[in-house]
Amino acid sequence: MQRAEVAAFYGEFEEAEKLYLDADRRDLAIELRMTLCDWFRVVQLYRMGGSGVSDQQMETAWREIGHHFANLRSWESAKEYYDKSHYIEGFMEALYHLEQFDELEQCVEKLPEKSPLLPKLAEMLASVGMCAEAVQAHLRFGDQKAAVNTCVNLRQWGEAVELAQKYQMPQVNTLIAKHAAQLLNEGRLTEAIEMQRNAGRHLDAARLLAQLAERELEKRAPMLRIKKIYILAALLAEQHLKAVATPEIDYASGRNTLLDSISLEDAACIERMWHCAEAYHFMLLAQRQLRFGIIHSALTTAIRLREYEDVLPLEDIYCLVALASCADRAFGTCSKAFLKLETLSHLPEKTLQEYEQLARSIFSKYEPEDADLDTVPCYSCGVPVPDSSPACVECGARFPACISSGKPILQPTNNIWICTTCHHCASPVEISRHRACPLCHSLIASMAV
Ligand SMILES: [Zn+2]
Ligand SMILES: [Zn+2]
Repeated sequence: MQRAEVAAFYGEFEEAEKLYLDADRRDLAIELRMTLCDWFRVVQLYRMGGSGVSDQQMETAWREIGHHFANLRSWESAKEYYDKSHYIEGFMEALYHLEQFDELEQCVEKLPEKSPLLPKLAEMLASVGMCAEAVQAHLRFGDQKAAVNTCVNLRQWGEAVELAQKYQMPQVNTLIAKHAAQLLNEGRLTEAIEMQRNAGRHLDAARLLAQLAERELEKRAPMLRIKKIYILAALLAEQHLKAVATPEIDYASGRNTLLDSISLEDAACIERMWHCAEAYHFMLLAQRQLRFGIIHSALTTAIRLREYEDVLPLEDIYCLVALASCADRAFGTCSKAFLKLETLSHLPEKTLQEYEQLARSIFSKYEPEDADLDTVPCYSCGVPVPDSSPACVECGARFPACISSGKPILQPTNNIWICTTCHHCASPVEISRHRACPLCHSLIASMAV
């Protein structure tokens, strides 16, 4: 024994080990190798002995070998030995470095609830964007706040809100509002929109979309693009209505009741989105009709545009009315449009003079009177009204526009088609030519006449 110790002292470890083994002191040989951190040899020595080695001893040795490989950044081997030793912290580390995230995710279930390793695991998962898995880890640890924070950091606002509601954490709304304000400050409008939408705050998202449309307008974006943005805003706003529906008042049949049940401001926002979308829709429609030479239809649609003076530039509206009415030989309407154009004081003097000259040259040849108009009796009071009129001059009854033709629907009480998505109407004959709603472009499933 002494000889063995002396040999060990002088660094002759092979010799020392042999002497220990000869003396049948395998335990001392193992101890020697342990102090040398030669865990491979420790394992060999354990095995030589057959029985008598506890699982725990074996696992310690495996774990040490795992550490050895981890230090060498040999993660494949580290993983193997950590797995053998049931050393889950090291196993997680190895998986993380090997980018084997599916297996890493399974560690959440392997760890007991409240295990201090769970927050670490959650952090690992979050760092690679595995939000739901990270949340699961935090929840298993019992830290709901950390779970919400993870969602916020990963911008999974929908999940953040869902969790916050489930665990009744009031601060999330403030959190979202703050974050949205920050994004807006930084000019990241589209991200703010996405965030609000993901968080289920559809009206806020719709309001931001309206801002986006205004910005696009300043950039002189095509009108079709502006229309699409407003349609999107309006459809999101409808989502809000769907969200407030109850089993008693369902969305499909009780949309108007739902509109009455929400705050005036919110209801006005929803109506406003549709109003703006309609404005651009009818503007595009009138221009198209004019191009195709359907002059009377173009004039009818252009006249409808007067309902959208709050959305569209007045010059655009009245130029279109003037042009269409002139082509339709409705010189009465035409002269009124020119009068309106000449009062637009924000226009440059030169433009105003040009309008004046043009008017003079037209009305030197033609009397400013409309030719005999086709009239239809008002459905409400029976007085004849021009077929292009959006409302009855006598009783004020309104004729909604057909979204396909722009024509007033003079009998709005029966036989009309109503889109199930945007709730706008059209005449059945017109709509039969379409596969999708002309306004919101949702597919037409059935004819709800
Ligand atoms: Zn009437
Ligand atoms: Zn529609």
